Amino acid sequence: MSFQSDLEIVAAALADYYRQSHAGEMPVIHQPPMEELISGLGLAAWVSTGGLSGEGLSEFVAKYLSSTTRLHHPAYMAHQVAVPHYAGALAALIDGFTNNAMAIYEMGPGAASIEHFVVNWLLEKVGWQPAPARLTHPAGDQTWGGGVLTHGGSLANLTALIAARSRIAPQVWLDGSPGNLALLAPAESHYSIARAAGILGIGQNAVYHLAVDSRGVVIPDRLPEAYGRCRNDGRRAIALVANACSTAVGLYDPLLEIAEFCRAQGLWFHVDGAHGASALLSEKHRHRLRGVEKADSLTWDAHKLVRTPTLCAAVLVRDSRTLDGAFQQEASYLFHEKEQPGFDFVERTVECTKAGLGLRLFMVLGAMGERGLADYVERQFDLAVEAYEYIRHLPDFECAVEPQTNILCFRLAGDDDLQLQVRQRLTALGAFYISTAAFNGRRYLRLALMNPDTSLDDIKRLVDEMRRLANTEARPQ
Ligand SMILES: *Cc1c(COP(=O)(O)O)cnc(C)c1O
Repeated sequence: MSFQSDLEIVAAALADYYRQSHAGEMPVIHQPPMEELISGLGLAAWVSTGGLSGEGLSEFVAKYLSSTTRLHHPAYMAHQVAVPHYAGALAALIDGFTNNAMAIYEMGPGAASIEHFVVNWLLEKVGWQPAPARLTHPAGDQTWGGGVLTHGGSLANLTALIAARSRIAPQVWLDGSPGNLALLAPAESHYSIARAAGILGIGQNAVYHLAVDSRGVVIPDRLPEAYGRCRNDGRRAIALVANACSTAVGLYDPLLEIAEFCRAQGLWFHVDGAHGASALLSEKHRHRLRGVEKADSLTWDAHKLVRTPTLCAAVLVRDSRTLDGAFQQEASYLFHEKEQPGFDFVERTVECTKAGLGLRLFMVLGAMGERGLADYVERQFDLAVEAYEYIRHLPDFECAVEPQTNILCFRLAGDDDLQLQVRQRLTALGAFYISTAAFNGRRYLRLALMNPDTSLDDIKRLVDEMRRLANTEARPQ
């Protein structure tokens, strides 16, 4: 076995895979039954004999790659998962090989420094104060922003809400939850918010839903209603959560008005920007997040619109002290006061051993440059508007809302079953991969236009294919 020759085998296989996917030569999605894959990949035999290298490795990787869902295929329009820039994939390889668990500085000085740098880069995009490398808590009213990279936006949301809870009820770390805590959020929030409420011991029944308009967007004038109900029930809200953007249809809540309400009430304001915070990279689109700088915390996934491989999410706070105070537990072998040249992220995160996620984001940034990333975001958002203008003028289709991001929900004239059947047939044929979403009580088909090679022509071909599937194949009544 040789590392270098195996690496060359893998590199050649991936280059071929990329070419095939990009050219659309292979199905974008193909799902054989699991038993078939487990035996077809020869897993048990490799485990018993060992020696997965050279020729055997080459065959295995080829089979494995043929069992993947191809994100680099222009007909991949299904989920909000990045089509990764290869530079980010190289970073994942370097990180996997070096395995620097960088949550404490001495276990990965380069990785920790890069995380510090990219967190600062993100903070600056929000309009928060990047922190100096030597973080001493400043005197007076100077506030540094802060943040940490987590394995996913769900964990970032949880981390932000832990910080919010620690501010209002620090004694929970010793006494447990006081039982009268609550959360304010629109029903359109990502399920990780309700799940966080469960994990935090708040309970999903203590999530008070904010009033929204017919598009699911928060109505600022009606914020006092939900907050009033919460207070009348004798509860204390740890935070108010808004979407930037919502998961199903990709719309932004009016952050500035919400931030002003939260300031006036002394409420922690968390913005879930897992998908849509990347609009901050674009001068053309950053107005959608107007007011975000007045929030307390923000979740921002790099593995969605920043072309970074999974997982790489950031939880960012306006005031780094709130994140440093989030976890009140002690682990003295890690946290002892030590004279050291760098910063320990471990105090800011649920995780202990933590991958060097910053390298993935940084290498994409370094390859594309921030202008290149901004161009990408703008291209994808513009494509969604073009697709919307095209589809909404078709007599046999309708769109849910005018898109604000690269997410577009639409449906064929017909009932909910028709949408699901057409999607199922598309998926079985493997020429297109799209998802679905429930919105306003109806089933929509949903595009997340992540792939920089998807064009309006691909979407027109999708529409033609959907018509063919809806009309020519018998539908059970
Ligand atoms: C994707 C998404 C999440 C979850 O992030 P993961 O990285 O998938 O855990 C949370 N909130 C919103 C708004 C999202 O779009």
